[in-house]
Amino acid sequence: MSTRAIAILVAVAGVSLLAAWAIPTRRESPRLARTVDGTSLRREPGQHVVKKSPCAGYVGLTFDDSPTGNTQDLIDALRSAGLRATMFNIGQRAQNNQALVRAQLDAGLWIGNHSFTHPHLPTLPEAQVRSQLQQTQDVLQQATGAAPRLFRPPYGETNETVRYVAQQLGLTEVLWDIDSEDWAGATSAKIIEAAGYLGPGLIILMHDLPATVAAIPQIAADLAARGLCAGMISPATGRPVAPA
Ligand code: ZN
Repeated sequence: MSTRAIAILVAVAGVSLLAAWAIPTRRESPRLARTVDGTSLRREPGQHVVKKSPCAGYVGLTFDDSPTGNTQDLIDALRSAGLRATMFNIGQRAQNNQALVRAQLDAGLWIGNHSFTHPHLPTLPEAQVRSQLQQTQDVLQQATGAAPRLFRPPYGETNETVRYVAQQLGLTEVLWDIDSEDWAGATSAKIIEAAGYLGPGLIILMHDLPATVAAIPQIAADLAARGLCAGMISPATGRPVAPA
C-alpha cells in the first residue's frame, strides 16, 4: 500500500470518527434546549443559535375563576409540564390574594380579566358592567404592573353593552371553542378527552380545580404528540398565536 493510500485511509477514518462524534451531539441538543413555549434553541457547528419551532399549531389553554386554593397547584403542574396558559382572574379574589396573581405572572402565564364578582353581566346596567371590568383592571394592574388586554365574561355571557365597555377599556373579549366541563364535575379522563379536540387556533375552557390540575401532565403529553404548542392569546385577534 502506498504512502498516499495510507494517508487517504487515515483521513477517511478521521472523518468517520468526527461524524460519529458529531451526529449524536446534534440530535441531542435540540431536545435538551427546549424552551417552555415548545420552541428549541439549536446550535449547529460554526453557526449562531437558531430558533427552530417544532409547533404544527398553537392552542389556547385558558383557566377561569382564579385565584383559588388550587391556583398554586395548577401553576406548579403547568410549569412542570412546560405549558403556558391564560388565567382569567376574578377581581375580588385577586384583591384578596395578589401574591397568587404575581405567581401566575412569574410562571410565564398570561393574566386576563374575568370581572370583579362574577355576575351575569348582560343583566347589569352599563355603569355596573364598567365598574366590574374597571375595578378588576385596577387590581390586576396593581398586582402585575400591567393592565390586562384580555377579558372573558363570566359564563361566556355577553351582549353589545358588555363588548362596548370591554372595548373602551382596551380589552379583547375571549370566549372558547371547547368546554372541558370541569366546572360541572368532569373527571380528569373526561377533561383529557376534551383537550384531545384541540387543534391549531382553538381555545379550551378550564378552571383550577383538582381534577383539571391532575389532567395537566397527560394533556401536555397529548399536545406534544400532536405537535401542538400552548400559545398566547393575541389581544389583536382573540386567538392563540406563538408566544411573543
Ligand atoms: Zn368564571
